[in-house]
Amino acid sequence: MCFVIAVGCGSDSQSGIPPGTSYPGIPDGLDAVMVSHLTQDIESENFLFHFQPGDTVRVDRQEAFHRWAVDYLGVSLPKKIDFYKFSFADMRTVVGTRGASGRGFPQDFALATVYNWHPHETMHVYTFGICQSVTIRLFDEGMAVAHEFDPLNDDWVPRWSQWPGRGDYVYAEKVREHKAAGKLYPLEEILDSPSFLQVRLEERGTVNNRVLYDEAGMFVSYLIDRFGIDEMKQAICAITQDDARDTILREFKEVFGVSLQEAERDWLAYLDASQ
Ligand SMILES: [Zn+2]
Repeated sequence: MCFVIAVGCGSDSQSGIPPGTSYPGIPDGLDAVMVSHLTQDIESENFLFHFQPGDTVRVDRQEAFHRWAVDYLGVSLPKKIDFYKFSFADMRTVVGTRGASGRGFPQDFALATVYNWHPHETMHVYTFGICQSVTIRLFDEGMAVAHEFDPLNDDWVPRWSQWPGRGDYVYAEKVREHKAAGKLYPLEEILDSPSFLQVRLEERGTVNNRVLYDEAGMFVSYLIDRFGIDEMKQAICAITQDDARDTILREFKEVFGVSLQEAERDWLAYLDASQ
C-alpha cells in the first residue's frame, strides 16, 4: 500500500527508489518514484504509454495526431515517444507546485501529462525534432498552441476543448478578446526565453493566466498562414532557446523578410479585419 502512495509515505521503502531520483530511460526532472506507479504499459506504433491501473489512454487519437504532425513537419523521430500519464494529484508532485497539466521532455522524446492524449505536449517533441534543437519559448509554445488539433475527428480549430474537462476555448476568439481588453503583450517584451518565462511567472494564478500562451499560439499561427510552415521551420532552426533579443530580431528578418515589428503590426491589423 505504501508503494502506491510512496511520496505521501515520505520514502519509497518497498521499491528502494529515493524520491526525486533520476534513472536511465526516465527524463531528468521526472520523478522515478512517480513513474514507478505507472505499472500499466501499452506499446503502439509510435508511443510507449505508461499509466496507472484503472486509468485510460487514447491510443487512436494520439496516434492520429502523431501521423498528421510528423507528415506536416517532415520529421522522423529516432525512438517511440514515452507518454507518462499521471493523475491530477500525482502531476502536482511530478511538476512541483506549478500546477501544470503537462510537461514535455522533448530531448528525451517524452512527455508527462494528466490527459489521456495530449496534442500540445507532443507538439513540443515534434518541434524539437525539426532540427534537434530547442527554439525560443515564443515559438515553442506558439507551435504547441497553434496546433492543438484533433485529426482523428477532423477538427482543425486550435482549442482547449479537445482535452477532457475543459470548456470550449477557441484560441483565435480568445486572442481577439485579449486584444480588445488591451491585454496583449508587445512581442518584443516576450521575445527571448527569459522574458517569456518571467511573464509566465507573473501571469500564473491571475485572471490573465492564458494571455501569453494564447498570444504566442495565434502569432505563430499567423506566421505560418502568411509565410508557410517551411519558413516557420527555418526560423525554429535558426533561433535557439538561449538567443538574445538582438539575435532573434536579426534572424527573424532574415527568415521572414520583414521585421518583427512589421509582422506584429500586420498581425494586429489582421485580428481586427478577420473578426
Ligand atoms: Zn507547452
